Amino acid sequence: MNMGWGQAAAGRLTALPSWTVHAGFALLLAATAVFGRTITLESSNLALVWPAAAIHFLWAVWGLRSRRDLVIALIAAVPVLAAVTLVTGLGSALVAGVVLGSTVQTVIAAFLLRRLVPHVGVRNVGDYLRLGGIALVACSVGGLLVVGADALGGGLSPASVFVPWLIRHAVSLTAIGSLGLVLATAISVRASGTAAPKSRVRPLEHVLIAFVSIALYTTTFGADTALPISYIAIPVHMWAGLRLLSGWAMLHGLASGGILLFFTVAGRGPFQELDGGTAAYVAQSFMFIAFSLSAVLALSMDERQRLITGLYRANEEAEASAALRDLVISRMHDGVLVSGPDGRPVFQNEMSARWLGPWTAQPAEVWRRGYDVTTVNGEPLTDADEPLTLALQGVVTERLDLDLTHSDGHVVYLSVDAIPLPDEQGAVVVTRNVTDDRMYQRDLGRFASVVAHDLMTPLTVFDGWLEMLEDPDLPVAEQQASVARLQQASLRMRNLIRNLLVYSLAKEERLAPSHLDVTDIVEGIIDLRTALRGRDVPLVRFHVRTAHPVYADERMFLQLVENLVGNALKYGRTDGTAEITVATSLDAATGRTLISVRDNGIGIPEADLERVFDDFHRAENGLGRASGTGLGLAICRRIAVSHGGSISVANVPGGGAEFTISLPAGPDHLPAGVAQTDADDVSMVPAH
Ligand code: ADP
Repeated sequence: MNMGWGQAAAGRLTALPSWTVHAGFALLLAATAVFGRTITLESSNLALVWPAAAIHFLWAVWGLRSRRDLVIALIAAVPVLAAVTLVTGLGSALVAGVVLGSTVQTVIAAFLLRRLVPHVGVRNVGDYLRLGGIALVACSVGGLLVVGADALGGGLSPASVFVPWLIRHAVSLTAIGSLGLVLATAISVRASGTAAPKSRVRPLEHVLIAFVSIALYTTTFGADTALPISYIAIPVHMWAGLRLLSGWAMLHGLASGGILLFFTVAGRGPFQELDGGTAAYVAQSFMFIAFSLSAVLALSMDERQRLITGLYRANEEAEASAALRDLVISRMHDGVLVSGPDGRPVFQNEMSARWLGPWTAQPAEVWRRGYDVTTVNGEPLTDADEPLTLALQGVVTERLDLDLTHSDGHVVYLSVDAIPLPDEQGAVVVTRNVTDDRMYQRDLGRFASVVAHDLMTPLTVFDGWLEMLEDPDLPVAEQQASVARLQQASLRMRNLIRNLLVYSLAKEERLAPSHLDVTDIVEGIIDLRTALRGRDVPLVRFHVRTAHPVYADERMFLQLVENLVGNALKYGRTDGTAEITVATSLDAATGRTLISVRDNGIGIPEADLERVFDDFHRAENGLGRASGTGLGLAICRRIAVSHGGSISVANVPGGGAEFTISLPAGPDHLPAGVAQTDADDVSMVPAH
């Protein structure tokens, strides 16, 4: 609530032009000097308390921000001090001494403060004690200079000048100086808008502390009799120190000191029987000790609060970053598993649990749950090579390939890293699922060998038969047979090359869709296939029921049916009982046409059902049946997708596979963006 005006006021104060601040300090210096000079020791005509020393010091500290401001502060203080001391009756030698002593002492104190307390403030007990030390050193130098000047003017004994100077200046610098520095910090903190330290007490307690202090000080130090009971003021300083923020506690100490000084100088209270000068100094030291008590207590309480707040904040930040880290790790595509030094689980993310199974307490059981672990060579993983065990012994494992064969037969290929944690705190095992990579590598390898075989074999055949043809005595019948074989080998090569071409083009090629006569196309393919198979191959019974409309690119559609019927023949029965059905139906959900090709052949193993459409993939059970590249179904999928459709496969109960493709029944079913080719082609023709 008061944050608003507090911040505004602090902002205005820090924004004051520097000449205003200089003028303010000059006025304050004059006022405090006049005040000090009104309380003087009769014997020496020297001041008893000297708050001006602190104002002088604070002015110079403020001036530290620029060389120009420092010079102005130091020079402007000279006439102010000289005028006040001259007017209030000091001799000229002493005036010179006071001015010189004060200036030198201020410079030393300001520079020492900047050197020893780089943040130039009083934040903790250490800073307060450092300021006290600085004040002692600086004021000793100042005092010596005054003693010198006084001696030149034929003044009093050096001790009677030096000691009072040191006491009142050092006390003033430490007490008022620290309050000033705390105030300055509070102003700049508020002005910058950062949250100011919160008060530990309610306003009522402030009032109560003030009330009790005034009552105690008045009764103790304003009494007619000289009862030595000044100590009863101490608890109120402890109260203030423990409960108030340091600035308020210091202000409280200073105000109580003011009351004390007032009564003592007026000749009342516990010190009234001492002579004037002694009474004042005893009172001043009492006041300083009481002030320091509240200041030190309050500063340590403030620091404690700062530390606790910092601790809470650090704790919250640590919790937040731990939560973030857990979230990131739990969403990672890698499996992460952390074990304690005894091999017990500390953390396991979702992926790790999915591949390895949830990890329970038994050490080293992690690789042995519901699956067999083998290395890439197919050898079982020995305990000595187990990555987690090794990591717990301080050995790093990098990219170890392990195959996990689960009891249901499916295999997960993992790449495993295991790293010991620092200070033998356990180990981290990171697993990456490389099944897809491994499958792809395997498929690619098979594809390469098929391509090599299908291109190399015909060439060898060519060479052999060409050599034979060179023989002029070769019978005509033999000649014709070898030419026929050469043609077959060439056809095989051409098929392979065409397949590769179609595969690479099926994605990019533009569609030229039209209404197709499906039955005509399918029967054409069947006729060709049957003719090619020759007479010695057992019969296959075909069923064609294709009455639904299809709107597609004719060449692609041909390729699609050709591949599927080709596969049905390749992987179909060979004992004369093979049956192949090509049928269409209406997909009620989309209005598109479904075309299915079904056989009663070897079918597809469950684990391969999803993969047969991947590039180069071939199922194990078909490898011995027919040669192939693993590209036919990948081409079919590209064709289906380019028509906005899809392809799927299921095994037929009783044996065989059924492939189903969804294709457009009319132009409306084409995917958005497919060019209406007729119009496009026309527009490409140059207009002349
Ligand atoms: P290719 O026939 O050249 O191997 P495809 O991409 O046409 O390649 O087929 C991929 C794999 O799918 C084949 O290797 C085979 O294992 C399996 N497959 C395809 N069609 C059939 C089918 N009708 N019956 C059984 N398996 C099939």
